[in-house]
This record gives sequence, C-alpha cells and structure tokens, in this order.
Amino acid sequence: MHQPLKLMCSKHALASNWRSLVERAGVPAAAAVKANAYGLGAAEVVLTLAEAGCRDFLVSSWWESEGLRKVAPPGSIAVLHGIGPDDLPAAMVSDARPVLNTVEQAARWREHAGGRCCDVMIDTGMNRLGLRPDQLDHLNGLQIHTLHSHLACADEDHALNALQLTRFREVASAVQAVRYSLANSAGIYLGREFSFDLVRPGLALYGGIPRAEARGEITQVAQLQAQVVQRRTIMAGETCGYGATFHADRNTEAAIINIGYADGYWRGFSSVGSGEASGTKLPVLGRVSMDLIVLSCDALPSLAEGEWVSIDFALEQAAQRSGMSQYELLTGLGRRFNRVWH
Ligand SMILES: *Cc1c(COP(=O)(O)O)cnc(C)c1O
Repeated sequence: MHQPLKLMCSKHALASNWRSLVERAGVPAAAAVKANAYGLGAAEVVLTLAEAGCRDFLVSSWWESEGLRKVAPPGSIAVLHGIGPDDLPAAMVSDARPVLNTVEQAARWREHAGGRCCDVMIDTGMNRLGLRPDQLDHLNGLQIHTLHSHLACADEDHALNALQLTRFREVASAVQAVRYSLANSAGIYLGREFSFDLVRPGLALYGGIPRAEARGEITQVAQLQAQVVQRRTIMAGETCGYGATFHADRNTEAAIINIGYADGYWRGFSSVGSGEASGTKLPVLGRVSMDLIVLSCDALPSLAEGEWVSIDFALEQAAQRSGMSQYELLTGLGRRFNRVWH
C-alpha cells in the first residue's frame, strides 16, 4: 500500500561514515545499533555494516539482540544492559555476550554461564552503568572478552575526559581482557589515546556530528520526504495553524504537508524548520501539528498536491533549531515512515 512518508537512508553514507571513523580511530569500530539503530532500522544497518567489515554490534537488551539474530554475524552482538534477573532464559540460548555491569550480574554469569566469555563495563566517572574500579575483585574467574568504560562528556572539552582516560588505563592494566574499549562517537575525535582496541560509535554512523572535528568527515544518512496534501492561499490578515501563531501580512501561498510531531518532527520546528522542493526553500509557517505542517510556497507557486517535499533534517542544524539533541531527533523518527535503504 502507498505510504505517504519516506525516510530515504543511504547505505553508501552509512558505510562511508563507519570507514571514516575506523580511519580516525586507527582501530576497529563496533556499531551501536540499540534503539533500532537510532531509529533508522537495525537489520538494514547491521547488514550494511557487516558487509563493510564491521564485526561488533551493541544493543541494549536481549530482546533487541534476538531481533538481530538472523542478520548479525555469529557472536558479534554484545548486550549493554548485561544480564538481569529476568534475562537468563534468553541469554542461555543466545550467542551474544552480556556486558556485565554490577557485582550481582558478575555473580549471576559466573554461576549460570559455564565459563562462557562476557564483556564488562567499568564506571570511570559517569555514575551510570558499570562496576566501580574498587570492585574489580568480583571479576575473578570470568573470561572477559571486551572490557569497556563510557565517557560522560566526550562531546565537550571537559576535565572529566582526561580523568576517565587515566582511570580506564589503571583499570585496563589490572584486568585481563582480550580487548579494551572506551570511546563513543565523540570520544573518537578526542584523539587516538582514547581508541584502545575498539571504538563504539553510534550517532556519527548515522550522520550525527558529535564534535566540530567531525564536520566534513561525516555525512547525513537519512532524508525525510513527505507529500503535499493540500494547497491553499492564506489571505492577508488571516492566520494558520494551532494557536494562530503565523499571521499573514499579505496573501501567502501555503502547502499542507503530511508530517508532524507524531512522526518525530517536533514542535520545536514550529516557525523555524523548513522543507525543500526543486531546490527552493519552503519555511514552516506556524505550529507543527500531530500529523501536519504548513510550508510557505510563495517561492514555488507551482508546488501541487501529491508532490514530494524533502524536510530539512541536517542533524547539527536541526538540533540547534529545534532545541532537541541529535540523538532525540534520530530516535524520535516515527513508525509511519517507509524506511527505504538505497
Ligand atoms: C550508545 C552507546 C555508545 C554510542 O554512543 P554515541 O554517542 O551514539 O556514539 C557507545 N557506548 C555505549 C556504552 C553506549 O551505550
């Protein structure tokens, strides 16, 4: 059936972002594909990146891991939330590795996994997931594949970056593992001393710009396209949309477009977002509704019902304009998009 909303996703851009991150880091890159690969579609992302040479994929839960069992290369998945009290049945029949986060999880894995290898997360200063550096004794007897830590402020020039690096070096020298890994997308741009043996980008794979250094190296992966539902003229002196926030001081040509905040085109784009057709910029007039926006098409009066408009979603600028983070913009992209990988 015809789907009136499209998310055009470029395999070429995705693979080229992955290669560019590997080159920057000087070591292999895992791909964070949690949250349906930040909204773009985890199965397609895993297939595309596996073909490009990616051998490690990170999800949050065993449920996400199960959804990728048929597409991910054997043994390539790690589950970031580790092994909770309800996860044993799924973990026992899976070839994914848990990333153990707590003393309890370490004990649970030691008791039930029969020597199977695991990953471990050490908290070096974020105080989110992970064992504290003073809890390393609890790792005795585990076969650790990758030892991880995670940076809290890599997208800023923050004193915590150097502190976490020092703490992770200390932990790495005390704990035996096959590989060590610290950097997310932003961390990759802090310098190769953050690379260790494996980096773990998410955002930058999908076209996000985590730090200024990434500009020019990372390209947009997803393009939003929506259709014109109706054309109208907003008469001089009238308003449009909820709250009547756009006021026409002259007759204004408008196109009503089938995308709204239910699709992840947030209300923060009201009066500041834009679309584009035939190379012409079409500014958003007034408020974003649930399923609709109004675009000015004074500059393109020929724009007709049924025509496709691309919605400006260049992540760095869109985040600034809407007040949302690039992460929220990607993961918010809704279920009504036909995700087309090309
Ligand atoms: C999500 C996540 C990543 C990827 O982070 P980005 O900022 O999107 O690159 C890396 N490591 C861990 C532990 C994560 O949870």
